[in-house]
Amino acid sequence: MSTTFKGVIIKREAVIRAMDDFDECYPSTNQYDNWLDKDIYKFAIRYRGRLYPPKHILSEVSGFPATDFGGGKQTNCVFRQLGFEVGNKRALNTRYENDQKFAEVRINEVDILQIRDKLLSFSTNMDSQILFPTLEPDAYQLVIDDPYAFAIAVCLDRGMKADLIWTIPYYIKNDLGHLDPRKIYHMSVSDLETLFQRLPKKPRFVNAAPRTLQELTILVVEEFDADAAQIWEGKTAGQVKRTFQSIFGVGEGIANMAVLLIEAAYPIRFNDLERTRMDIKPDVHTMRVLYRLGVSEVESERDAIEAARSINPSYPGEIDGALWEIGRQWCHASNPNCGPCPMNSVCIKRF
Ligand code: SF4
Repeated sequence: MSTTFKGVIIKREAVIRAMDDFDECYPSTNQYDNWLDKDIYKFAIRYRGRLYPPKHILSEVSGFPATDFGGGKQTNCVFRQLGFEVGNKRALNTRYENDQKFAEVRINEVDILQIRDKLLSFSTNMDSQILFPTLEPDAYQLVIDDPYAFAIAVCLDRGMKADLIWTIPYYIKNDLGHLDPRKIYHMSVSDLETLFQRLPKKPRFVNAAPRTLQELTILVVEEFDADAAQIWEGKTAGQVKRTFQSIFGVGEGIANMAVLLIEAAYPIRFNDLERTRMDIKPDVHTMRVLYRLGVSEVESERDAIEAARSINPSYPGEIDGALWEIGRQWCHASNPNCGPCPMNSVCIKRF
């Protein structure tokens, strides 16, 4: 993301680097000219829970001395165009002080271990149906009971809504009257194209889906004796990823996800996964919950990832599903339902 200021291209990353430099020079933001206490500094940028003087930062990034340009609108609009929160210093400072207060609370009172225990306990007891939502009640049982159905859903996932992707095998079975890989093996790509066109709801990239299904089916029949469970049973995570990635349209991201989903759906634990390096994938729910719990400083992806690492360093991604579900069920953006929330007793409720 970039914009121009007096003919100079200003990139968002450059602004963040200038803020990092500012943090190093002034560990407490007010060490810079006591600017929070002086009325001549009217505006502030708020980022990662800290305040920054806009003219100073813009001067650092653009190379123009701060005396060469005006504060206020001329400066602020540069930061707004780059997606930063900028505004009245006093209003933002009140929020900053609240954050500092909450940070103290987090450090002094909130027991990270208790939070971890609660999240892991919730995660362990979480119904796997939550992880495999479907549009039809019977579709869930199909993907859990039939490894071929499970593999079809995994291979056809292209950033689609989860409930649709886990329902696609059910739609295919309903249309064909079976989900037998040996029979589907004999269908041509054009037969499969027609099949996908008939489905009540179609996967994303419907033109690529027939070839993906055909290649998966050939693999299952020819390499695994028509038993898709053999793709992962008795195999390492590395082998499973390589198998999935050999199928048309399945990239590294899907193959990585497949391994985690297999562990979630079946009593399988891969010993060769480097779990310490497996982070959460932050979304609005996980970021909000981690912030309100008092573990992350601000609702940002970076802070959420760091917060999850601090809660569960041996496997940060393990708490992803629990955070997501807590955000969806109880920790709503407005009117969070704290009473029945499983985190109630350990949450500082920062909202
Ligand atoms: S206790 Fe309330 S604020 Fe805390 S995570 Fe639960 S719903 Fe959110």
